[in-house]
Amino acid sequence: MLVMMKANASAGEIREVCRKIEEMGFKAHPIPGSMRTAIGITGNRGPVEPTALEALPGVAECVPVSKPYKLVARELKEDTTVVDLGDGVCVGGPEIAVIAGPCAVESRSQAFTIARAVSAAGARLFRGGAYKPRTSPYSFQGLGEEGLNILAEVRAEFGLKIVTEAVDQETLELVEQYSDVIQIGARNMQNFSLLKQAGRSRRPVLLKRGISATLDELLMAAEYIVAEGNYNVILCERGVRTFADHTRNTLDLSVVPAAQRLSHLPILVDPSHGTGRREKVLPLSRAAVAVGADGLILEVHHKPDEALSDGNQSILPSQLEILMKDIRQIAAVLGRKVAGE
Ligand code: PEP
Ligand code: MN
Repeated sequence: MLVMMKANASAGEIREVCRKIEEMGFKAHPIPGSMRTAIGITGNRGPVEPTALEALPGVAECVPVSKPYKLVARELKEDTTVVDLGDGVCVGGPEIAVIAGPCAVESRSQAFTIARAVSAAGARLFRGGAYKPRTSPYSFQGLGEEGLNILAEVRAEFGLKIVTEAVDQETLELVEQYSDVIQIGARNMQNFSLLKQAGRSRRPVLLKRGISATLDELLMAAEYIVAEGNYNVILCERGVRTFADHTRNTLDLSVVPAAQRLSHLPILVDPSHGTGRREKVLPLSRAAVAVGADGLILEVHHKPDEALSDGNQSILPSQLEILMKDIRQIAAVLGRKVAGE
């Protein structure tokens, strides 16, 4: 259930409703909106009896939630969540966020070469895995903490925000210390203990859709994180597995407006994993921005043929530059902007 406060409800009245909810044995999640505050309730097994809450000063109405997810639902919060990473870098606002970098951090010089190009192209966020969830145990697994140190150096040198993946509880503790955004990968979308741990973190979380996850399952996974108190979750469409074999995965761009209708969380698109082919990254990036995505996450490598992972889908720095120019024009049509103009 949601408690919708009146537009003019005072901070004291909101606090009192939260206190009452906690007294009933539940958890209260006050979410301020542009018009009014809504308070989500979790921890209840069945329906919550609204009478006691409806009678409190400042309460407009109690609304039953029609979806299995509560806190990520647009019913709770009309405005899209803006995840503020500091220094003017936001995800979910009018500006399209571009996260670019290699699939994996391979060395200091590799990361620096790519970061220099990413920064020059105007992107403000850098990606790169220090821990890689690979299909084969014999493939490159990432540099581990050494990779995280390199990412910290990239941030210091170029001022880029760092997005990097945690693959389990142990690595999440480290990733949390070094990163600006914790990535939870497709393979871990339903690793519920990891999601809960990410929910207890202060760092924003980029949650990638599982390879066969429905939109409801993605939103329920996000709910796990938010229910623990971390409201800064960014969804990411990265392609799902279908019968199609002309691409690595099928990039489901229709999930973008569908997610935006149901949830207030921002959503990015990953056309690199979504297609698996370098030459398809540019057209699908244009399409992702056109469909209304809040940003892109892109794999970039200066020597993709020598990349230790995902070279086939990594674009060259020169292609990133073209991509940025193209999406700037598309964003303008939609009244949005791309950083670095
Ligand atoms: C990645 O971003 O490099 C990655 C492993 O992504 P996904 O979890 O979407 O496969
Ligand atoms: Mn990759």
